[in-house]
Amino acid sequence: MRDDLLTVVVAARNEAEALPRLHPRLRAVLDGIQGLQGRVLYVDDGSTDETWEVMLTIAQDDPAVSLLRLSRNFGKESALTAGLDLVAEGAALVLDADGQDPPELIPQFVALWRQGYDDVHGTRTVREGENWIKRATAAGFYRVIGRLAKTPVPADTGDFRLLAPRSLAALAQLRERHRFMKGLFGWVGYRSIAVPYLRHARMAGKSKFGWWKLWNFALEGITSFSTAPLRLATYVGVFTALVAFGFALFVVIKAALFGDPVQGWPTMMTVVLLLGGMQLMALGMIGEYLGRLYEESKQRPLYLVDEWRPATLDQRVPGA
Ligand code: UDP
Ligand code: MG
Repeated sequence: MRDDLLTVVVAARNEAEALPRLHPRLRAVLDGIQGLQGRVLYVDDGSTDETWEVMLTIAQDDPAVSLLRLSRNFGKESALTAGLDLVAEGAALVLDADGQDPPELIPQFVALWRQGYDDVHGTRTVREGENWIKRATAAGFYRVIGRLAKTPVPADTGDFRLLAPRSLAALAQLRERHRFMKGLFGWVGYRSIAVPYLRHARMAGKSKFGWWKLWNFALEGITSFSTAPLRLATYVGVFTALVAFGFALFVVIKAALFGDPVQGWPTMMTVVLLLGGMQLMALGMIGEYLGRLYEESKQRPLYLVDEWRPATLDQRVPGA
């Protein structure tokens, strides 16, 4: 096992401003770690600005930098997967391009990896530049998913993470299209440890994750790692059926005893609307899962590569 090689994988979409500021920091940190060969792999996830050109410039000056360009924007999860798939040896570390995950923490991650941990991940203690609504919804989400998922989804943990070779190999086997990364890492298991850190505000540019995206992200997490909503539909159904049965009994007995003058239109409307609403909700839930099943069944690749520029360092003939 090689514990002297680390590849930092950075997925970037429209980060032309942030990358030139990130790279020197990253380089300095990597060079400062004793006995470690630090490589960097930048993945351009269909950027529409000068990100690719910026990457080319960075790679020109640093022979340990590899570049990967996807055919279009596939989303952060797929871009990271593309990058991680290309890490053939050594460990990998995932880092955001915007400087929100401080590269200065990498030596600590590496030290823990060398102590035998397979999955070292950063846990945010403070979220700078995020308002209380975002913090509250995030906390709520982690609580819900923590209850629902069978494998651990650690709270306040992003993708900032070091993966030892065997964790990396395990992750590479999970090829689902709907990639809820935090959950996937938890599913893999092995020895994991959290490193608390202070998450700063972005260096430049703005977050690509607005409210709507975050909501979908939460749905993604829940439907990818739990079938509890389906079970909930079952329970709600059983409960409603029981209540309906009791009510039916009441109506029949009442009609038998007191006759049946035309009455009860409000009751009927209430029941019809309530049942209709609940049925639609349950159908919607089933639909969410069915839709995901459909996406998986197509078996499309997770990403397509436009251009791959391995680090010039890698092209050296071994021993030459
Ligand atoms: N990112 C990406 N593809 C996307 C969206 C984002 O590769 O479609 C990258 C982005 O460039 C950044 C990281 O994912 O390096 C995190 O994105 P962002 O900072 O917007 O998310 P936040 O920190 O707000 O969660
Ligand atoms: Mg960010």
